[in-house]
Amino acid sequence: MTMKQTLKTNINVIQNTIENHLPAGNEKPTVIAVTKTVDEDTMRDLYSLGVKHFGENRPDVFLKKYENLVDINEDIQWHFIGNLQTRQVKKIINDIDYLHSLDRLSLAKEIQKRAEQPVNCFIQVNVSGEDSKSGFQPDALADTLKELEAYDKLNIIGLMTMAPIDASQEEIHEYFRFLKELQVEVEQSNFTNAPCTEVSMGMSQDYPIAVSEGATFIRVGTAFFKDAL
Ligand SMILES: *Cc1c(COP(=O)(O)O)cnc(C)c1O
Repeated sequence: MTMKQTLKTNINVIQNTIENHLPAGNEKPTVIAVTKTVDEDTMRDLYSLGVKHFGENRPDVFLKKYENLVDINEDIQWHFIGNLQTRQVKKIINDIDYLHSLDRLSLAKEIQKRAEQPVNCFIQVNVSGEDSKSGFQPDALADTLKELEAYDKLNIIGLMTMAPIDASQEEIHEYFRFLKELQVEVEQSNFTNAPCTEVSMGMSQDYPIAVSEGATFIRVGTAFFKDAL
């Protein structure tokens, strides 16, 4: 099989898996192809197969790809999913469509200073409480959102998390269910600049669980590229 055929097969597998795990009545989540490990040629193949949401985690790599794909850029939604250093904000903030990794107030402050338009942001939540994980603690969310009401360049569209790598299936279910509950709580609190209707969770290893727990955005890398490269 050519690389493109393999990509097509993988896309079909992902779509079928989503359908099989989607709770009755839920809309299908948006699938972000996490392209951090592949080049622009592979991204063009994905694009020609209908994939229009790309996720990157390094500012310089994102910028290079953004420039090299300038001819199709208008039609692509760019998701920044990685740790974003404060000094890197100004380089990318006006070119991305979504930021999944708002994990500290100092980052929000810098975005407020540098963004020309409100930026769609997910607040990253540390659902497991692990020291090694970045993100806000669940019990800090309400105060954080209160503080962010003064930041009109941030549009908090939802919450994002990652499950610990060593979590069992059952634990992953619990973490994702917890994030969904937190999202609903924030949504119902009606904070200014925080519609918070979305949940970004699930990667190649655990996206079926995320879908079953109500993810509206999933971030999938390796499952797209399996056997294709
Ligand atoms: C790399 C990455 C993904 C995708 O991971 P895969 O296991 O390749 O699907 C999702 N989210 C974040 C934050 C990532 O860094």
